[in-house]
Amino acid sequence: MSKLDELYERLGVRKGISAAGSTTMYGGSKLRPEVTEIMIEASTVMLDMDELNKAAGQMIGELTGAESGLVTSGSAGGLLLQACAVIAGDDPKKMAQLPDTEGMNNEIIIQRSQRFPYDQCYRAAGAKFVEIGDGKRCHEWQLEAAFSDKTAAVAYLFSPGTSKLALSLDRVCQIAHERGVPVIVDAASMLPPRENLSKYHKMGADLVIHSGGKGIRGPQGTGLLSGKKHLIEAAFANASPHQFLGRSAKVAKEEIVGILTALHNFVNEDETAEMEKFKQRSQKVVDAFSETPGLDVELKFDKSDYLTPNASIIFNEEWEGPLAPEVIQRMREGDQPIFISNLIRPDEIIFDPLNVDDNEVDTVIKKIRESMN
Ligand SMILES: *Cc1c(COP(=O)(O)O)cnc(C)c1O
Repeated sequence: MSKLDELYERLGVRKGISAAGSTTMYGGSKLRPEVTEIMIEASTVMLDMDELNKAAGQMIGELTGAESGLVTSGSAGGLLLQACAVIAGDDPKKMAQLPDTEGMNNEIIIQRSQRFPYDQCYRAAGAKFVEIGDGKRCHEWQLEAAFSDKTAAVAYLFSPGTSKLALSLDRVCQIAHERGVPVIVDAASMLPPRENLSKYHKMGADLVIHSGGKGIRGPQGTGLLSGKKHLIEAAFANASPHQFLGRSAKVAKEEIVGILTALHNFVNEDETAEMEKFKQRSQKVVDAFSETPGLDVELKFDKSDYLTPNASIIFNEEWEGPLAPEVIQRMREGDQPIFISNLIRPDEIIFDPLNVDDNEVDTVIKKIRESMN
């Protein structure tokens, strides 16, 4: 028995399989082996964190097509720093005053359809939301009417399942930039495809956050902030190890070299081959259930809601067994929990192959079958 198995047994913690993509609740992603290796080596090397952070930022800039970058504590920590940067800039007096934003431009405009649980990280820096649109659609005039002399930024979210009727990022950037206002983007879970590393910058975004521990398979606690030089400098000023609000979202030296290694290797990988592998694993699940009455089973891959090939199982009107939420619950029971979810619609379960090895697929299929009876 390995040391880890012994520890988990003593703690009573079960080892599972995650077919729920890169969901943080189930462990995020499996770390790339080469990342583990370099993190161990980095763990005993002492250095100047400012020097490391600035060099890391330059490399992130090069790999994302942005002017500069910064490693953050997850995307959530990156959202906090986006808000610090647009509200307080790199003015130490203002930075020390946060999250009290009295006397500062503290309004962040956001489309109602793009409100999301993580936007609390913006409020943690003292931002006040100015919401626009009806929760689904938003018109340009509504954005135009929302600017005031206290506007700090416009926030924009990319995430599977969000409204396709929102204003486009291109237009939001044009309208905001005409008024000298920056646009801050949360694209935490939008990788792969790799083109999304630079896509939002090309559309005009000023700051973009991507998670390091999701599709890139770097350290689970990291995020990649990229964007305009002066805003990255402001984020850097507010960030750990400096003693301002961002100090609560510390990033360790091992994590910085870990995410740089992961990002470098991610960018240089053959995406077609990776997608083919995901397709094959998903197709295996599709084939296992395609003849089952009451189920609509399909391989999905559409670059907005299903960014990588997934197997979608929809429970239709003819289905007589337990419904999707019950199946999801049952799969978590037993000695080896299997995590699977339904982010897009309630009558569906989605098999996401990102963190499922070839030899784990059959175990997942077996447990889906058992949980449906
Ligand atoms: C996952 C996610 C986050 C948080 O990312 P972490 O890297 O886990 O902190 C923020 N926003 C969105 C849209 C996400 O999907």
